[in-house]
Amino acid sequence: MPPKGFACTQCGHCCLNLGAYQSCATAEDVDMWEEHGRNDILEWVEEIGPGIFDIWISPRTHDDVNRCPWLRKLPGKAKYICRIQDMKPEICRSYPHSRKKARETGCPGIWQAVRQG
Ligand code: SF4
Ligand code: SF4
Repeated sequence: MPPKGFACTQCGHCCLNLGAYQSCATAEDVDMWEEHGRNDILEWVEEIGPGIFDIWISPRTHDDVNRCPWLRKLPGKAKYICRIQDMKPEICRSYPHSRKKARETGCPGIWQAVRQG
């Protein structure tokens, strides 16, 4: 889950500039994709160590891509959506993690005051 009180503006910055982020999937992400037969997603994942998975790696060149292959721009709008919204990895589900991380990585998402508890 994203941080409490955070609202994404769908600017696409985080998904268009993957080089600025640590981009790894968890073993649970990979299990989920395997359980759902999402070989199209798994093609973009490389195991770089025991239980450590790098994303998004071009299946053609084996290089990291800077723009996520699952990002789609909405026609006529400066907004983007994720084509694997229900299947996106934990790192994307929890981004930007904190206000500090949002500031450091240039996320312009909106923070609303929320009551604690
Ligand atoms: S999987 Fe979705 S949320 Fe994650 S980087 Fe790609 S487009 Fe963005
Ligand atoms: S940079 Fe922040 S506001 Fe923009 S799409 Fe990513 S999470 Fe949403």
